Amino acid sequence: MGIEHHLGNSFMATSISQVVGWARKYSLWPLPFATACCSIEFMSVMTSDFDIARFGAERPSFSPRQADLMLVLGTITYKMAPVMWKAYQTMAEPKWVICVGACACTGGMFDTYAVLQGIDRVIPVDMYVPGCPPRPEMILDALVKLQEKISKESINDPKYKDRVEYLNKALNPDRSAIES
Ligand code: SF4
Repeated sequence: MGIEHHLGNSFMATSISQVVGWARKYSLWPLPFATACCSIEFMSVMTSDFDIARFGAERPSFSPRQADLMLVLGTITYKMAPVMWKAYQTMAEPKWVICVGACACTGGMFDTYAVLQGIDRVIPVDMYVPGCPPRPEMILDALVKLQEKISKESINDPKYKDRVEYLNKALNPDRSAIES
């Protein structure tokens, strides 16, 4: 669906998807899911030295219901994984995830019985930031790349409508359908 604006003698044509994508990418509300040392890097990102406000994402939310960008910062144990999943599930749609640091991406150096070997085993991830810890610039780089991705997403993308149902099915398969 196209919309048009008359701006004096100039003329601009765009689509609803592009306008919504533009608004979404500059109004991200991050939820820092911080469990270990990578969180210190996120604190740096919030300071004036790095100034995440330049990207419209300076408003952290400590309630998942008022957040649409989860940053997972640190080691996630199996005990913590259901809490992360619950927080993700509670967040508003549409939502995105940036996975920060080696521990969150792969378990990092903690190849142990207690540590989740990558958060993408539990929740979908949009951007991975490598490093132990990553520099604050790398977190900002992931944010900019995510903004590019968001601006290209369509509002008709079925993943938004079906994601909760899909994830529920993935985590709770219908055993009766499998066993019959
Ligand atoms: S990746 Fe390194 S800095 Fe980040 S939480 Fe793991 S051990 Fe700490």
